[in-house]
Amino acid sequence: MPKEAYRGKVMKRNVLIIGAGGVAQVVAHKCAQHNDILGNIHIASRTVEKCQQIVDSVREKGSLKTAGELQAHALDALDVEATKALIAKTQSQLVINVGSPFINMSVLQACIETGAAYLDTAIHEDPDKICETPPWYANYEWKRRELCDENKVTAILGVGFDPGVVNAYAAVGMEHFDSVSDIDIIDINAGDHGHYFATNFDPEINFREFTGRVWSWQNSQWVQNKMFEIKRTDDLPVVGQRTSYMTGHDELHSLSKNLDVPNIRFWMGFGEHYINVFTVLNSLGLLSEQPVTTAEGLEVVPLKVVKAVLPDPASLAPNYTGKTCIGDILKGKKDGKDKEIFIYNVADHKQAWEEVGSQGISYTAGVPPVAAAILIAQGVWDVQKMVNVEELDCRPFINLLNEIGLPTRIKDEDGDRPLSY
Ligand code: NDP
Repeated sequence: MPKEAYRGKVMKRNVLIIGAGGVAQVVAHKCAQHNDILGNIHIASRTVEKCQQIVDSVREKGSLKTAGELQAHALDALDVEATKALIAKTQSQLVINVGSPFINMSVLQACIETGAAYLDTAIHEDPDKICETPPWYANYEWKRRELCDENKVTAILGVGFDPGVVNAYAAVGMEHFDSVSDIDIIDINAGDHGHYFATNFDPEINFREFTGRVWSWQNSQWVQNKMFEIKRTDDLPVVGQRTSYMTGHDELHSLSKNLDVPNIRFWMGFGEHYINVFTVLNSLGLLSEQPVTTAEGLEVVPLKVVKAVLPDPASLAPNYTGKTCIGDILKGKKDGKDKEIFIYNVADHKQAWEEVGSQGISYTAGVPPVAAAILIAQGVWDVQKMVNVEELDCRPFINLLNEIGLPTRIKDEDGDRPLSY
């Protein structure tokens, strides 16, 4: 990366990680591996013991590159004043929000008021609403765009894997075409966790993605379908023949605005067993986010009860085997001819466990925000405004991911090979 790229820009240091789940575990280890650039590391969540466990795991694995602070804190991030106070106390200039998506707007507000850079990996959610009207970002985060501009706050939205890296794949993929007609983002987890049923990240968030309508961007307009209504089968690198289902997903809500592509869809792979269990739970009303009252007068939210009885996603990590394959198929025209490419990453659950004590899904979600934080720290991505990933120069991001654990490959008419710039 040429030094000129960040000459004259402000360098940012010290990271506050918010959340202490599976993704935060990866973020903490990866920040530690790069603490020569990122500086001191602080981890805050409602349950300080979970933060302390992550701190202990980073120390046990010897992940810290150089000597530096690594501390756990108790924080309710819905409390903007408390979050501002912790940002100030820890002198954090980079805030990586990998807590639940319900806290995005309060953490973002704390960053706007303190000037810290803000990064997250999921769109904001209101606990009482499922599957909001598109573009979903316009209901929440984008309303703070002007405030970020005025305060010169760098806010990078949705910089996990999907959303995140797949947005970068879409942006760089466009450069291979004169015009692109279709972007199909495909997310396959070909791993096996050995449990009867479990979700790979927060069950509450996971199910909320699938219980409402499925939004997709087709012929330059929003189209609604039901979950599991439309499927496709692809023969993919490493994981082989896989069926995936059209699903609503965060990145469609920004890519449809930021890229001139008429068809953008998201497809997630599900096995028949997952679909059967999901269908039973959903049909019985057990995935509802609306409270019900038991005969004893106890008010409970069925979805929260289901979450409470399912395995903690972080607990899946030690015995998880197999691989993930996530990427973008782009179709369009080049020099008057039809063209198709697939830009993708393959990650390995066992390798993730050995490196950072997490499963592959958390790994793919947790490495990208750290890459983005490094790019902000170096001034390369310190854009001092609010952006979604595809609005940035994604080449340095892909290069850095290649180095720090998530290599990118491209498959096109010239074969299947690593992609770097
Ligand atoms: P977990 O459910 O495992 O962890 C969420 C964490 O958020 C918990 O530690 C929880 O705290 C914390 N939290 C919730 N509310 C608050 C609050 N008010 N104040 C402080 N902390 C709070 O989630 P994951 O680690 O699996 O996922 C983290 C994020 O990453 C989610 O937003 C998820 O949607 C996103 N994600 C993104 C992916 C991508 O590729 N873009 C893929 C996978 C996940 P505590 O336990 O202390 O109570």
